[in-house]
Amino acid sequence: MTSKRTHLWRFMTVAVVFCLACVIYLGRLFYIQISGRDDRYSGETTTRTVTIQAVRGEIYDRNGTALVSNCYTYDLALVYGAFSAMDVRTENDTLLSILEALRQSGDISKHEQKYFPFDGAYPYYSLSEEAADADSIPYFRLRRVLGDVGLKADSDVDDVIGYYVETYALLATGSDGKRVYDDDQIDQLIRLRYDMDARRFGVANDYAFAGEVSLPLMTYIKELNLGGVAFTVNVERVYKFPGYASHILGTVGPIYSEEWKYYNEQGYQMNAIVGKTGCEYAFEEYLHGSDGKLLIEEDAQGNILRTEVLIPPIAGNDVYLTIDIGLQVAAEDGLAENVAYVVDHSGGVISYGANCHAGATVVMDPDTFSVLAIASYPTYDLTTYNLNYNDLAIDAAKPLLNRALGGLYEPGSTYKLGVATAALMEEKIEAASRITCAGAYDRFGTYRPKCSTYPHDHSAINVVEAIADSCNVFFYEMGYRLGIDRLNEYMRAFGFGESTGIELGGAMGILAGPDYRQQIHGEIWTEGMTVQAAIGQADNQASPLQLACYLSTLVGGGNRYAAHLLDSVYAFGADEPLYTYTQSPDTLLSQVPLSNEVLATVFEGMREVVENNAVVRNNMSNIPVKVGGKTGTAQNSSGCDNALFVCAAPYDDPEIVISVVLEQGYAGSYSSLTAARILEKYYNAK
Ligand SMILES: [Zn+2]
Repeated sequence: MTSKRTHLWRFMTVAVVFCLACVIYLGRLFYIQISGRDDRYSGETTTRTVTIQAVRGEIYDRNGTALVSNCYTYDLALVYGAFSAMDVRTENDTLLSILEALRQSGDISKHEQKYFPFDGAYPYYSLSEEAADADSIPYFRLRRVLGDVGLKADSDVDDVIGYYVETYALLATGSDGKRVYDDDQIDQLIRLRYDMDARRFGVANDYAFAGEVSLPLMTYIKELNLGGVAFTVNVERVYKFPGYASHILGTVGPIYSEEWKYYNEQGYQMNAIVGKTGCEYAFEEYLHGSDGKLLIEEDAQGNILRTEVLIPPIAGNDVYLTIDIGLQVAAEDGLAENVAYVVDHSGGVISYGANCHAGATVVMDPDTFSVLAIASYPTYDLTTYNLNYNDLAIDAAKPLLNRALGGLYEPGSTYKLGVATAALMEEKIEAASRITCAGAYDRFGTYRPKCSTYPHDHSAINVVEAIADSCNVFFYEMGYRLGIDRLNEYMRAFGFGESTGIELGGAMGILAGPDYRQQIHGEIWTEGMTVQAAIGQADNQASPLQLACYLSTLVGGGNRYAAHLLDSVYAFGADEPLYTYTQSPDTLLSQVPLSNEVLATVFEGMREVVENNAVVRNNMSNIPVKVGGKTGTAQNSSGCDNALFVCAAPYDDPEIVISVVLEQGYAGSYSSLTAARILEKYYNAK
């Protein structure tokens, strides 16, 4: 199993590091963070305590494919206590050995001495132009170094170079009377010593020699057995599918001051990295382990004499999501393709979709309400999130918004499946009964809301045909016969205006009705509003996730469970999960009364939608099972209608449910392309 191999790898990495560091610790996963240490000297030995920072758990998809893991990098640092205990010649030799190793390995580029204030090389230096500028960093650092090492503020270049040559015996001669260091080595040592002073290398301040040192180089340097040299391990999040699932996975970052009180109470260290958004935030309690403390006793040469774990760290747990990364990729690619398709077919006309630029889709298992994919377009890449944050935050297309959870859209005709269910269950109509559509609805005198096909009519139409043709008049009449209260008992049970229960939170949407109308608009609800609500308009608003939950409730037989992303949680290296999602009375949010006969009738209507609509039928032509669906084309204040599509497959015994919304996507049928791409992946991958 992939995850087991990853576990092993992770353990091996840590084991290698600590064998190299001569720290023997048979425990769980951790890394040592040098910051925040507390050194004490007693005679020849030094003891220090370091934080053993627990490594954050990893995130996997439902099949054990890693989505977010950790990358370990090694920094090379000098530790003052052990380094300064050596004589200056040994110090110099140590520095030159490290520089030579860095140069040979090519890692030298990661060692920067940016602000050396002199041009030239030993013995010919001159003050650089930049360091002569009193506003520059090199100037400031030079003044500080002069003060720190006890040189006069008006010292010239020769004074400074003379100080380093003398203090560190750079012109020392060997027993043969020849100089120990050549000019090039003296130049390197002056530059390095200056940088160590400028960065105030001292008891409380390690000298960060080089960052992200390669493992072979680290091994090599450890074999040189140099005093005062230490390696620290840094851990960064690595995204295995860069640019995908970004909205779901979310970000990590430092604790903000306003969060500190909460995290402090949870026992976090102030410099801890915590989940900020998405699953990283929602599942923080599992992913974050608890830090430990390690005591290290060293001799004057920096050799570790003894270590003692004062507080053992506990690694974060691994989180397995319900997401299927294959479907997730298909969903995101499908949305991008779908948006481009709409724009291509708009002829540049806004009312035909020229401004379509955003959308979302949700893929769900209707038996368990497990979310198999959540995609929101446009999106971003977590790998470059921090770098690009400012641009992303002000982007008019709002790539940071997870439209699948937080975007609210009028459900439009996708609502009619629920209305048909309510009307059939309440016996306001029978499957075979026909309603006459005259192209507009004539019950309210001068107020004549139109059919979708106006000025054409549907004449006498039954419920299956009305679903297939999306006849507004049929559903106006169903709304009228049900009344808003009875209709909303059903629509609320389908999850409209209700929480989906998903761990990431999300919009509740709006269930149109008298209460909302009165509260928000101060208006009395009318029967005219009821008939508009029955075609998914009036005040109705739903997120793509709510639409997926609604359809899952319907095709699953009426039980609405909490949508969820968490599948299971494993402790590091464990075979048995700490947690596995199971359906229970607690996860059952509501129930819609639904008979098999009514469900069969609605399934028939959904199948006809796919077969009757040429665009949908064409998009679904590669799917090996019959798909049932419903289009929606909903008014939108932005200039072009939003396109919606919900579907289930196979139509009469669904195992997968999909919702799609394209902002300004022109026609509901257009948005079936995204669903088709997801189903192609689902059926080919099976
Ligand atoms: Zn009609």
